[in-house]
Amino acid sequence: MTDCIFCEIIKGATPTDKIYDGDNFLVIEDIAPVAPIHLLIIPKRHIESLLQLQESDIVLAGQMMKYTATLADKYNLSNKGYKVVINTGKDGGQIVPHLHYHFLGGKKISDK
Ligand code: AMP
Ligand code: ZN
Repeated sequence: MTDCIFCEIIKGATPTDKIYDGDNFLVIEDIAPVAPIHLLIIPKRHIESLLQLQESDIVLAGQMMKYTATLADKYNLSNKGYKVVINTGKDGGQIVPHLHYHFLGGKKISDK
């Protein structure tokens, strides 16, 4: 996939510090954070959005969701909590067409 900023980061073409770099997904800091802790959990395979998620991606999607608890531990948010957001499509506010989970914490995040 060309012209995908997250694929460029995954390929290493756009140098970016990785919080976590696993076999199937990685975690980076959002370039324009809206919370004190704003991370992006990104699958290494280009999946456009939740709309394109296949049955065979369900384990990966679950592993990415479970990893939020590891991040909460790493950032001392387990007691305070955090929010996971998956923007999907135009009305969902998705700008980058490569599936990603926003991990938001460090303040009360009231938007649903
Ligand atoms: P979304 O609206 O869900 O598509 O969010 C895309 C997110 O990606 C936004 O919060 C951007 O700030 C973030 N973003 C875009 N480019 C980069 C980049 N090169 N590195 C880190 N985060 C990025
Ligand atoms: Zn991509």
